[in-house]
Amino acid sequence: MTKRIQNAVAKAKRAKCRVRRVAARTYESRTPQGRTYTVRCEVRDGRRYVICNCAAGSVNQVCYHAIGVALLDTAITGYQRSH
Ligand SMILES: [Zn+2]
Repeated sequence: MTKRIQNAVAKAKRAKCRVRRVAARTYESRTPQGRTYTVRCEVRDGRRYVICNCAAGSVNQVCYHAIGVALLDTAITGYQRSH
C-alpha cells in the first residue's frame, strides 16, 4: 500500500463520511461539513476503480471519500477471490 493510500485510509476513518448507496455500485459520500460527492465503483479488466467527483478524485488522486466507499463496497460485494 502506498503512503498516499495509507493516509487516505486513515483520513477516511477519522472523517466519518456518511455513505449512502444510490444505485448499483454508486454511492454518495457526505462529509461532516455537509458536502456531498458521488463515488462510483467500477471493475475494468479485473481491476477495481473507485471514481470520486471531488477535486482530488477528478485528477485521479486517491481521496478519502473514495476510500470510505471502497471499504463499504468491499464489505457489501466482497472481493472476488482467485484460487
Ligand atoms: Zn473524493
